[in-house]
Amino acid sequence: MRKNAVRPAGRRQGRISMLSLPMIALALCLFVINMAAHAAEAGSDAVTPTNLPRILVLATGGTIAGQADTRATGAYKSGQITGEQLVQSVPGLDKLARLSAEQISSIGSQDMNDKVWFALARRIQQAFDKDEADGIVVTHGTDTLEETAFFLDNVLKGDKPVVIVGSMRPATAVGADGPANLYEAIQVAADPRSRRHGVMAVLNDKIEGARSVTKTNTTSLETFNSPNAGPIGYVDTAGGIRFTAQASGLKRATYELPANEQLPRVEIVYSHANMDAVPIEDAIAHGAKGIVLAGVGDGNTSKQALDALELAAKKGIVVVRSTRVRSGFVTRNVEVDDDKNGFVVSEDLNPQKARVLAQLLIANGVTAPDKLQEAFRATW
Ligand code: ASP
Repeated sequence: MRKNAVRPAGRRQGRISMLSLPMIALALCLFVINMAAHAAEAGSDAVTPTNLPRILVLATGGTIAGQADTRATGAYKSGQITGEQLVQSVPGLDKLARLSAEQISSIGSQDMNDKVWFALARRIQQAFDKDEADGIVVTHGTDTLEETAFFLDNVLKGDKPVVIVGSMRPATAVGADGPANLYEAIQVAADPRSRRHGVMAVLNDKIEGARSVTKTNTTSLETFNSPNAGPIGYVDTAGGIRFTAQASGLKRATYELPANEQLPRVEIVYSHANMDAVPIEDAIAHGAKGIVLAGVGDGNTSKQALDALELAAKKGIVVVRSTRVRSGFVTRNVEVDDDKNGFVVSEDLNPQKARVLAQLLIANGVTAPDKLQEAFRATW
């Protein structure tokens, strides 16, 4: 071609042009047909930078934003990298969504608190109400990730996807899991099929529901599980997203955030052999409005502890029996007479989530045992 292009003009060139005319016409036809086919194939699913979903990343800190600390091998500090830096560090995110990032806090989630929870909840609700985003991703430490997920799930209104994500290894570690987890979290948040599942946790290729997810291993990447319900879906960068049958069973009530920006004091009391009443008496003395028992077995505890709990319930303190056992439901009126004592059982909620729900219910004026029990009932 190039050789032809530099040939001097003349008869020979004219002859070639004459011969080429039908070929050029054919090539043009093929080009036009090809373009039309591509346009039809893309159809309404065409993804151009302007119609990619808008995902707002709200960063709170955690190991996903952690950096190595020279103190010791394997040592690191949580919450050192901003949300914006995190987003910029993961290749390919711009193909999934139009992203913006905001910093809500920069803490390890062992320091998670009501102030950050309220700021998160308000910002997410505002983003949805003002149609600023199609989905939200919250980056978070893994220690209390399940509590934040459950809190948000109980206060957010609307059906747009909210995904909470963390990592077990800091960005500077060999085999850091943060980038893949963040990529998959954005994948899920950007997918219209992720609506109506409440708040989801995405880590290690799985999508877990806010009510059921819990951290089950202190250090392993395979740590977030839903012991009673199983995952609501799977995600991988190549294979896409698959929701399981569990996903359709999720239903949730929403509660108002208290105007004073504070949740009432609810203590968790951990039961064990040789248990006495002291931790329960302490909780009462410190003004607890509710006590969650992390009971042995089916939410049991010693005779002394039970007597103290009965006394607490008589004083109007909300008493919820949960369990320190990792899976299973706590059932009413088996070894403990809940009806007589005015207790509530947490069903499938572990103590840390039972605490969150008790706080929200008390803050919303729900304190009668039957109403509380109704609100604790699992919907599946
Ligand atoms: N302590 C850290 C945190 O929860 C652990 C982690 O993120 O994995 O913030």
